[in-house]
Amino acid sequence: MGKKNFAGKKDSTEKKDSTEKKDSVGKKNSTEKKDSTGKKDFMKEKNFIDEKRTGLQLIKRGIVYLAQESPGIFPLAFLQAAMEAAYPYIGILLSARILTELADPGRSMEHLFQMALLLVGLNFLGRRLLDFGGQFLDVLQYTVLKHIERAVAEKAWKMDYAMSADPKINETKQRITRWHYGRGVLALVGQMRRAFQALVTIGISVALVVEFFRAKAVGEDGMAAFLNHWGVSVLFLGLLGLSIVYNIYMSFRIQKVYFKINETAEKPMNRMMNLMDSCFSEYRNGKDIRMFHAKERMFGKFRELSGDYLRESEPAYLYERRKTFYTVLFSRGFDLLVYLFVGAKAIFGAFGVGSILKYTGMVTQLGDGVTRLCDTVRDFLQNLEYVKIYFDYLDMPNATAEGTLPVTKEIRENYEFEFRDVTFSYPGAAAPSLSGISCRFRKGEKIAIVGRNGSGKTTFIKLLCRLCDPQEGEILLNGVDIRKYQYQEYLSLFSTVFQDYQIFDFKLGENVAAESEYDRDRVTEALENAGFGERLKTLEEGLDTQLFKRFSEDGVELSGGESQKVAIARCLYKDAPYVVLDEPTAALDPVAEADIYQRMNRFTRDKGAIYISHRLSSCHFCHRILVFEEGRIVEQGSHEELLAAKGLYRRLWDAQAQYYA
Ligand code: ADP
Repeated sequence: MGKKNFAGKKDSTEKKDSTEKKDSVGKKNSTEKKDSTGKKDFMKEKNFIDEKRTGLQLIKRGIVYLAQESPGIFPLAFLQAAMEAAYPYIGILLSARILTELADPGRSMEHLFQMALLLVGLNFLGRRLLDFGGQFLDVLQYTVLKHIERAVAEKAWKMDYAMSADPKINETKQRITRWHYGRGVLALVGQMRRAFQALVTIGISVALVVEFFRAKAVGEDGMAAFLNHWGVSVLFLGLLGLSIVYNIYMSFRIQKVYFKINETAEKPMNRMMNLMDSCFSEYRNGKDIRMFHAKERMFGKFRELSGDYLRESEPAYLYERRKTFYTVLFSRGFDLLVYLFVGAKAIFGAFGVGSILKYTGMVTQLGDGVTRLCDTVRDFLQNLEYVKIYFDYLDMPNATAEGTLPVTKEIRENYEFEFRDVTFSYPGAAAPSLSGISCRFRKGEKIAIVGRNGSGKTTFIKLLCRLCDPQEGEILLNGVDIRKYQYQEYLSLFSTVFQDYQIFDFKLGENVAAESEYDRDRVTEALENAGFGERLKTLEEGLDTQLFKRFSEDGVELSGGESQKVAIARCLYKDAPYVVLDEPTAALDPVAEADIYQRMNRFTRDKGAIYISHRLSSCHFCHRILVFEEGRIVEQGSHEELLAAKGLYRRLWDAQAQYYA
């Protein structure tokens, strides 16, 4: 997958250059793209969407993509299509022969029996072959579908963190995974199969049509002359053309009505279904769902949206029924004409009675073939939009992971970070979450960050850890923009406990070590230092204990505090040069918290560390405290200095102190 993503690489490099220029002068990009709500369109802003990709390029890429994943898929699809097209003609042609022979006074019963046997045998064999081919094709399609799902998930893992939080990108991801066979790149297989089948059907039918017109009624005048007249043939072909065009036109009209419903009513309903899926599939959500009656509200909203959908789709169904009635009426009327024309030619000796079956069948097949071809071409063209969305998604270039500088041993041992006039907005956000942030901190320094909720503390550490990149300003490590370092090496500088840390459904030891092969003594030590030692002793399988129930019924559930201790142990085990802790003890009891802070202090003695904490008493021991307010650093200094300054920190401190007093 990785290589294919390079299609967008040129864009990203160009973008990066311009970002760097922009940063150096500190100006905002004047060509920022905003949507109708005035918010920035992150996908367009980053040039993720390639507006210029042509249909032909998409088809080519789609075919190559599928053929690479499953080389047999197209040959099998075409073979299947040819068999599907030929199959009805077994019945038509053999039945015609049987009927002709039956009408012949010199018929041979033996021959008739043989042909009947052949008809049944070929029918049976053809059906079996079609079923077998269909199943085999299903298996190949399923394999490719799994590959597509994996590619979408892999892209989600690999994309920039900031992008993964973008609601538009997330919706795109969910749409792609919901399409399955119906739309998108995989649908190309079915569409091409149907188109080929229709072409073969048309080919066979046209050959029979030619044969039909070449068969002349016997006689020079009267009805025979009329039937043999070229004008009648042209009229017949004209009516056939009209019937086909009418069918196609109706199918387009109906399709258009459904497309409108999809845009107005189906999308909101699908979003609601996504929300319900994600809420109900995770049992941990069960508490809030029950306590806050979310079920009723969700079902209520779902009922409302599906009501909207039904209301909007009902006229469409009625419309479709009405139009289908006319289409069927028109087609049957045309069929009547065909029977009359073919029957008359047979009566006037153009061909035997059996051929009536053959030629009426051929007209039906021809009409079907052309309609199917047009339907498929229409689906195919509409589907290109979905193919484009899929490749646009895979091609979204990452802004990160482009640096080349190594994070050397010297840097790991002696480092200084600097935020230089940094401004950052989340994708789609109307206002920046951080504005004009400037500060420095280095090895050995303990920094506390305090401030009210939503003041930008977590965002600050996300930028430091390069989970997001600033739109303006620079973050420097030893004087060099952090974007210039190799991404993974840069990440390895940090041991972190995030506020919304995640413990995975792996074994305990694997969770702490973040890998399956690990040093068991060190993991045990990290768990003990994180205050998990006593609990560890109660676990029969120790480090091999499976956490949570997803993979094993015997999986162990952890309390909020215990999970947080495991997250702290993971941070300790990593033992990186710089420690970042975002509310690491929020779920711990006061005794455990005091204990952890003591141990953390020992652990970070020679390291640099940043703590975010709402308990200001725990910031005491830090060398410097940064006070955040509305995305800015409004004060900084030691605890004593900030108390003396009588600013925001003092107010926060006094507010907390009164509870302790
Ligand atoms: P703090 O850690 O100080 O509570 P945050 O840094 O989490 O604050 O958030 C700062 C601001 O950024 C808030 O206004 C919040 O709503 C906004 N914000 C945080 N995360 C996102 C996100 N993923 N997308 C959009 N806005 C966000």
